[in-house]
Amino acid sequence: MNYARHEHHDFLGGSAHALADAGLQRVLTRLTDTLVAANRRGYAALSDSDKLRDHAKLIKEHTLAHLDRYLEQLEDSVKKLGGHVHWAATAEDARQIVVQIARQANCTKAVKSKSMTSEEMHLNPALEKAGIEVTETDFGEFIIQAAGERPSHLVAPAVHHTRESVAAILSRHLGEQLSDDPQALALTGRRVLRERFYQADLGITGANFAVAETGTIVLVTNEGNGRLTTTCPRVHVALMGLEKVIPRFGDLPVFLKLLARAATGQTLSIYTTLITGPRRDGELDGPEEFHLVILDNGRSKILATPFRESLQCIRCGACLNVCPVYRRVGGHAYGGVYSGPIGSILTPLYDSVSQNPHLPHASSLCGACQAACPVRINIPHMLIGLRELQHQFKPGRWESLAYGFWKQVLCRPWMYRLALKGARMFTRFFAKEGWLSRLPGPGANWTAMRDFPAPAAKAFRDRWKELNS
Ligand code: SF4
Repeated sequence: MNYARHEHHDFLGGSAHALADAGLQRVLTRLTDTLVAANRRGYAALSDSDKLRDHAKLIKEHTLAHLDRYLEQLEDSVKKLGGHVHWAATAEDARQIVVQIARQANCTKAVKSKSMTSEEMHLNPALEKAGIEVTETDFGEFIIQAAGERPSHLVAPAVHHTRESVAAILSRHLGEQLSDDPQALALTGRRVLRERFYQADLGITGANFAVAETGTIVLVTNEGNGRLTTTCPRVHVALMGLEKVIPRFGDLPVFLKLLARAATGQTLSIYTTLITGPRRDGELDGPEEFHLVILDNGRSKILATPFRESLQCIRCGACLNVCPVYRRVGGHAYGGVYSGPIGSILTPLYDSVSQNPHLPHASSLCGACQAACPVRINIPHMLIGLRELQHQFKPGRWESLAYGFWKQVLCRPWMYRLALKGARMFTRFFAKEGWLSRLPGPGANWTAMRDFPAPAAKAFRDRWKELNS
């Protein structure tokens, strides 16, 4: 199965592919329109959503300013409850830690609840290589695992599929002919996954929040798979990026109220699961072992940069739904695990700015993402910051030549006038009613997607002269 991430993916090629896919355009419009309306309804239903969002932001700012203290407190709290804490500096370290835990506990079958951190560390291939069978148990994730794909949305990972394509994927995967009736497909998923839960000896989850004060890991799901993943298997491993810690139990309601509303417009997600250590004496269910893996993978470096605010993200997906770029190209075009406006920041920061040159530009800077974000992350500001960083890289030969020539033209008024005259004469052959719809050469990339205004028939300076003569 191919889980491989498209290393240093071609965003432009991926976007062109997505734009030409009429089916994808339909599902993207339907999903994002629905979720944008739900997000607005969700905020409007709060008595003072602005105040709550400001409060959430303050908690995040405070936590990041004292991250070392709260992470140590979280470690102490989890250990006091009988859990184990593992620190992973890189994705590779995190993979090794999880494989080691599985080996030591003789686990061979894992069930996994939806976790973007596990996607980020490419956990499934590592487990499979170690001989551990992994089943994704969020239904959307189950579909894309069967298809050998990556999630295309933070909260709706299989949004790019229709019910017909889901039926085809699952029929192939399960070796039985399934109808495309959504209810029948859901029941099939339930039947198959129920068995896997009973057979599994290792349960892997993410963590939407981790409370430093109490050592509580909080999971938010809509399908109940998080609960089964953490109660049936005898070993539970929770994976979290180090920014997921929150200081106090009392901070939790602030985020729970916002997360579901921002993501899907729900008052609360259907299941909010609070895990506080492994099974205790006398308890009927729960794992015998509980492990918390805290992943850095570049986050601590971001902490000391102007991009620190990106660590406030609670992965609700609201910025994706409102983004005019994501709404057209979908998640796979971005290449990384995280897509949309926040992905255009996280992928260059976690991976490499120079190897993801188009992502900081995959935005109109309209500000819709910041307006929809429950913690008001200033995404446009950080995208501009990343664009600034790109100036540190040496441009290619042709780019240097083009800018060198442009500089000469701008420094010499006579050359500028001559260039304008040339452009006017040249574009005369292509202009129609004041617009250029089809340019040759490098200009074709622009006009393939949008028209370009034709140069005015008469230059401003000539008109000015005429007016004053
Ligand atoms: S940046 Fe904000 S809106 Fe986007 S996923 Fe993160 S929390 Fe949600």
